Amino acid sequence: MPELPEVEALADHLRRRAVGHRVARLEIAAISALKTYDPPSSAAVGRTVTDARRHGKFLDVVFDDDLHLVVHLARAGWLHHRESFPSATPLRPGKGPIAVRVRLDDGSGFDLTEAGTQKSLAAYLVTDPAQVPGVARLGPDALDADLATFTERLRSRRGQVKGVLTDQQVLAGVGNAYSDEILHAAKLSPFALTDRLTDAQLATLHEATRRVLGEAVTRSVGQRAAELKAEKRSGLAVHARTGLPCPVCGDTVREVSFADSSLQYCPGCQTGGKPLADRRLSRIVR
Ligand SMILES: [Zn+2]
Repeated sequence: MPELPEVEALADHLRRRAVGHRVARLEIAAISALKTYDPPSSAAVGRTVTDARRHGKFLDVVFDDDLHLVVHLARAGWLHHRESFPSATPLRPGKGPIAVRVRLDDGSGFDLTEAGTQKSLAAYLVTDPAQVPGVARLGPDALDADLATFTERLRSRRGQVKGVLTDQQVLAGVGNAYSDEILHAAKLSPFALTDRLTDAQLATLHEATRRVLGEAVTRSVGQRAAELKAEKRSGLAVHARTGLPCPVCGDTVREVSFADSSLQYCPGCQTGGKPLADRRLSRIVR
């Protein structure tokens, strides 16, 4: 799933390639992906792309005269910039991975795609990004929050730190992958409870959040969109590295599985060498 650094890089890419161009055509191939009907998709035609921004994990393509195409890429969504399109034929609805295609006046443009059968990419055409419920609910941006804000937000929600850190209403932008990386960098168990974290632990967590996300943004911005996923993988210490050695202490990276997700952590760095109980496994054993 694209998180703060990847969405920032995609926005940067659009700022360099799409800004200043007018929309020639906006095609909606996956009808269910467009969550709004007013203004209609035809309202974008003829508008100039003036900016591309990020709100948490939402991408916001800004057109002149108060129109925004706000996109949540969900788990398997992506944005592909195209120098040109092979054909002028409109997309056939319901066919293939392309959900939305935006053609610009110079023949270039971009596709919003979603792999797999579970379709959850969401696009909104709105006059104000705050009209998107998920954007309106976002907490402060994880990369911008100062220590006082960060501490206040983390303490506002009692629970396991992994879940609180990925709650977009607490802090915006962190998902499953970067929360694993941030907790590893902060040497905290993903199951540590937020109301038991000391001021010193919160300061370390704040610093780790800024550093992990900041470094990922630096690595990602300027990369071609096609190379972003490989770039993300290359920078990970524990996420998606189950069974591999921790680059910091050499212990074996372990995993805890849930119904539809999993987390990875290093026992040596994060849990005093003790493996965490895998609830799914213990349920099977019992
Ligand atoms: Zn380690």
